[in-house]
Amino acid sequence: MAGHGHNEPESDIAIRVKAIESLLAEKGLVDPVGIDHLVDYYETRVGPRNGAAVVARAWTDPAYKERLLDDASAAIAELGYSGLQGENMVVLENTPEVHNVVVCTLCSCYPWPVLGLPPVWYKSPPYRSRVVREPRAVLDEFGLIVPKDVEVRVWDSSAEIRYLVLPMRPEGTDGLSEEELAALVTRDGMIGVAAV
Ligand code: FE
Repeated sequence: MAGHGHNEPESDIAIRVKAIESLLAEKGLVDPVGIDHLVDYYETRVGPRNGAAVVARAWTDPAYKERLLDDASAAIAELGYSGLQGENMVVLENTPEVHNVVVCTLCSCYPWPVLGLPPVWYKSPPYRSRVVREPRAVLDEFGLIVPKDVEVRVWDSSAEIRYLVLPMRPEGTDGLSEEELAALVTRDGMIGVAAV
């Protein structure tokens, strides 16, 4: 496949899914509203919980964090998360000096094993084009003001590489367990459009 090389297969899958969905709905076998709820469930709840577990482990286990930054796919697989669209993962660490944000400028590449399904705005043309040109303005609209002295880095996902942002551990969380920490981690924090 040339170039970005995954737009067409994804569209193809999307068309097939739509076709199956309308057939099932037509036969009265499924309720389209139910499907929307199911998609929302994977998009916002189930999927990102995997990424949150990875982040919480990195916050509490320095050796794990080192492995994660060194070889993200392997370190993520240690926790049992792997598979389609997560084969070549790179984890980007936010620091007091650098804030990372992820996009796929050409379509909707997204690390499925750790984040589930991409949100609608992630796939929208305005986000995809604007976050590259004016990342601070876009982050602002998400309610995230990145201080001027913090560098914003925008990472363009592709078929080859999928990114996960490792947010900074919030202040005052020293006493929290790994599980409690994971509960604080949001999907948007792992895309880089929100702080945790
Ligand atoms: Fe893409």
